[in-house]
Amino acid sequence: MTDQIMGTYGPRPVTFVRGEGTRLWDDSGREYLDFLCGISVTSLGHANPVVASAVCEAARTLLHVSNLFWTVPQQQVAASLDELLGGGGKVFFANSGAEANECAIKLARRAGGRGRYRVISAYGSFHGRTLATLHATGQPSKHEAFQPLPEGFSHVAWDDPDALGAAVDSSVAAVLLEAVQGEGGVNVASPGYLAAARRICDEHGALLILDEVQTGLGRTGRWWGFEHDDIRPDVVTTAKALGNGVPIGACWARAEVAAAFEPGDHGSTFGGQPLAASAALAVLTEMRRIDAPALAEAAGARLARAVRTIPGVVSVRGRGLLLAAELAEGLAAADAARAALAEGLVVNAVTPTALRLAPPLTVAAGEIDEGARRLGAALARLGGS
Ligand SMILES: *Cc1c(COP(=O)(O)O)cnc(C)c1O
Repeated sequence: MTDQIMGTYGPRPVTFVRGEGTRLWDDSGREYLDFLCGISVTSLGHANPVVASAVCEAARTLLHVSNLFWTVPQQQVAASLDELLGGGGKVFFANSGAEANECAIKLARRAGGRGRYRVISAYGSFHGRTLATLHATGQPSKHEAFQPLPEGFSHVAWDDPDALGAAVDSSVAAVLLEAVQGEGGVNVASPGYLAAARRICDEHGALLILDEVQTGLGRTGRWWGFEHDDIRPDVVTTAKALGNGVPIGACWARAEVAAAFEPGDHGSTFGGQPLAASAALAVLTEMRRIDAPALAEAAGARLARAVRTIPGVVSVRGRGLLLAAELAEGLAAADAARAALAEGLVVNAVTPTALRLAPPLTVAAGEIDEGARRLGAALARLGGS
């Protein structure tokens, strides 16, 4: 469409101009069901009225003053997030998931002190695109073109407590994990994996950082993905759904860990400014009011059930409303995503053989059934059976 945008994203098939709830409309007026949510971002649906009012009100009241001063919404979001994470913590506000993780990595190094700076993450993980979070991302093929990357990152086999145990020693500042690898293909940690990681970190005095950028805020059927393993991390990062589309990220840490940061150690011009914080406050308040995790749990079960029976789908994995449909042999996920779009369903190819399904947590039962019908039509058109 335009020649003035860098080619980092590949071809983009549609121009969207409007959204409401689970639905999107393109520039020719066609309607779509959005089962991707801007990659797990618009969890409360498009043009959510509660978020829209909060954003408008903030724009009319106070948009920005920098972090040299207090603002009210930022303090309210910090209190709300801390409560959702069990209390006793402190929050740093950033503008994205990668920035939230960058903060977590800097905090781990600051808290670790001299000689304790390494960060261990898992193969198949995704933690962001900045140089440090790119190195933390366990996909070596993505590293090659950008060497040299910041030092001190290593990777272990995902979901393998023994591999993690063998990798952690007194040089390790932190272990950084997702509860469900989102970008890596919606790979759910086995029960007990995160609990084992917690034990290993405690044995060696390393911090456990949970990257809940994609899994957090109800998406998996609990407020946080780590709750499925009943553990307490030292540091938790969140972003995607936090502003329902307004960019904001946050890094929460236990107060004793957060105390390692001194004035001047970290900062952000925009992080937690009133517009973004007002959106986040509206999101957290609304998610609590509607019990978003419970909605995700119920809707996820219905969606998984419906998709499992579609010819061309061999299995469905994931938790809550973060699901992947593994396709039958011979069906490429990229082709399936294109065919789904043509049927009026937005999904994406999370691996070469699997589609990611991540509708808003507010998706209605009828929309789930209609989405599954459109997916079935798309796969039938590709000749899947
Ligand atoms: C999307 C994602 C990120 C990066 O977030 P950005 O806002 O794109 O920087 C980091 N970690 C996980 C688990 C993600 O899914």
